[in-house]
Amino acid sequence: MAQGSLYIVSAPSGAGKTSLVRALMERMGGLAFSVSHTTRPMRPGEQDGRDYHFVTVDTFEAMIGAGEFLEHARVFDNYYGTSLAAVQAQLARGEDVFLDIDWQGARQVREQLPEAYGVFILPPSRAALESRLQGRGQDGPEVIARRMRDAVSEAAHYDEYDYLIINDDFDTALNELGAIVTSARLRRPRQAARHAGMLAELLGD
Ligand code: GDP
Ligand code: ADP
Ligand code: 5GP
Repeated sequence: MAQGSLYIVSAPSGAGKTSLVRALMERMGGLAFSVSHTTRPMRPGEQDGRDYHFVTVDTFEAMIGAGEFLEHARVFDNYYGTSLAAVQAQLARGEDVFLDIDWQGARQVREQLPEAYGVFILPPSRAALESRLQGRGQDGPEVIARRMRDAVSEAAHYDEYDYLIINDDFDTALNELGAIVTSARLRRPRQAARHAGMLAELLGD
């Protein structure tokens, strides 16, 4: 079976990357989400093991020491990291894997896996970003103010990515994200691996 592709999705917090990736997974088969480890507190509505693996700083630092992360970074005073073994298992099953990670993590992944596709998502304006952070209703005013300040420095890294999506109308952005995945699946080496039997029958004598 052909290995899946790896997608690195980054965006300023609140731009909508989690909503877009989750919606795409409901619409399209063959996709997997990489559940990160984090030391930040769980938000209302989040589930351990589904949204993140919520761990203590001690556990996280032990995992760094044991080399368990494909990448890890400090974002907003918390640790975030991607488990190497989990991603390898998903890719080996032929699933296309989405990493919802920040730009620092994206750089580390690209160094090890240059074939990964980078997708950056931006909100249409500062005002839209702020109202989405408030509308999500899960962070206090200080956290929102901090995230707004950091959003500008995250957004400045958009030029390190292969694809840029403006998440203004949600369905438009969702279709665009789907188009990126579909077009990657149609690349010739991937199609040739998937349709090896058909190609042998067609071209053989
Ligand atoms: P179909 O949907 O009946 O054509 O069944 P397929 O086995 O072709 O596809 C099943 C699902 O896998 C669909 O949702 C496709 O979007 C998805 N898919 C198609 N090509 C690939 C691929 O190369 N890799 C992965 N991981 N999924 C694929
Ligand atoms: P991120 O994962 O990038 O931090 P979320 O996916 O949590 O962002 O989205 C932040 C908030 O903005 C959520 O409440 C979400 O429902 C809302 N949102 C996402 N995309 C749009 C959009 N195109 N228009 C309006 N609201 C949106
Ligand atoms: P949130 O706390 O809003 O879920 O995420 C905050 C930020 O941390 C986002 O920019 C998100 O992309 C990033 N992030 C989440 N998981 C990971 C991860 O595993 N690695 C890295 N490097 N960043 C992550």
